[in-house]
Amino acid sequence: MSFTRRHFSKIAGMAAASVLAPSALRATGAEVSGQKIGYCIVGLGRISLGHFLPGLLPSQHGKVTGLVSGSPDKAQKVAAQYGVPAASIYTYEQYDQIRDNPAIDAVYIGLPNSMHAEYTIRAAKAGKHVLCEKPMCTTVEDARAMIAACNAAGRKLMIAYRCQLEPANLRAIALIRSGAIGQVEAIESAYGFNIHPGEWRLNKKLAGGGPLMDVGIYSLNASRYLTGEEPQVLSAYSSVIDRDGRFDEVEENVGWTMKFPSGIVASCNTTYGANMDGYYKVHGSNGIIELSPAFGYDGIHLRAQVAKPGGGQGHDEIDMPAPLKDPQQFMVEGDYFAECVVNNKPIKMSGEEGLRDMELIMQIYRAAGMNTACITGGTQDAGSGREV
Ligand code: NAD
Repeated sequence: MSFTRRHFSKIAGMAAASVLAPSALRATGAEVSGQKIGYCIVGLGRISLGHFLPGLLPSQHGKVTGLVSGSPDKAQKVAAQYGVPAASIYTYEQYDQIRDNPAIDAVYIGLPNSMHAEYTIRAAKAGKHVLCEKPMCTTVEDARAMIAACNAAGRKLMIAYRCQLEPANLRAIALIRSGAIGQVEAIESAYGFNIHPGEWRLNKKLAGGGPLMDVGIYSLNASRYLTGEEPQVLSAYSSVIDRDGRFDEVEENVGWTMKFPSGIVASCNTTYGANMDGYYKVHGSNGIIELSPAFGYDGIHLRAQVAKPGGGQGHDEIDMPAPLKDPQQFMVEGDYFAECVVNNKPIKMSGEEGLRDMELIMQIYRAAGMNTACITGGTQDAGSGREV
């Protein structure tokens, strides 16, 4: 457990590290409005209201200074709750006016997937940094355009892969890199839920795809950060069972397998038809790491059997309930981004990281025999299982 405490101290330290003085901010060359980075929240839905905004409250480096919403009543209520002045509330049509608001340093984009690209590019053109929810967007072309727009404007772009900052996931990576479970041989992972009818997530135009875009991306991204490798080949199947007309536009199930250069094989599943608490298991030649759940806002739990130091017989057991409670992952995420902006540091969950997942998602859809020109192949069962 000593690692747990050390690690948590590091994360907590990151959050609790000096509230940067304005002079320190100026010294970095970052254009910031004061002691904290001012976030404009774009889209006041579940992730923004339920998690990111509450996460900013205890934040050391971030605060909310603007809101973008199509609902004036909701925006006024949220503004009153978080102390945002009326002049810093924008409709989607007024969004570009954030350019003239010096209290806004960055935007947080909590919109349906297909809107991420437009609102990122408009923010960059308005001179603002961008923290964009996952999935980065819905096409590889959009991902490239988002990166180009932020680069052209000299602004940071981060994709909200909060698990890459989460202590139990970070410990899993550290254990693997230290050889604690020997050579990694196989990874299994799944994430899904039984979706309610009427969600924008079932609308291909807004969502771009089904559960793979939405939650399967966690297993995909985890397979990459756990191995530290990029998949060499993959195969995939998708299916639609559709008992009730929910899956006219996006897939219901996807299963895919990726082979990495070292020979590690990762097998993943995602669905909108059943509740699948997100998890992964990493099977090594001398141990196992299981995170179950692995991707939630709360309750992430690492259990592992690792090799005894010095090559002794048997295994040591590790049991690590994650220290962060909802909304602390969002506090850490907001603070991490703010620190990268202020100190002009490279971002590990960069636009390029999001682009890589978008490319792989498209390869998975193609391998499953789905039409990626319109992102998903609609309702038919698909699955060539061929390698790409
Ligand atoms: P939501 O439906 O609760 O919120 C979406 C917001 O977008 C609402 O405020 C809605 O009014 C607004 N909106 C603007 N134009 C819209 C349109 N044309 N159609 C529908 N809504 C429109 O969605 P959510 O669950 O908050 O998801 C938003 C984004 O956050 C998605 O990209 C999702 O993948 C991501 N997300 C990330 C996490 C995470 O843990 N990182 C968790 C949930 C969602």
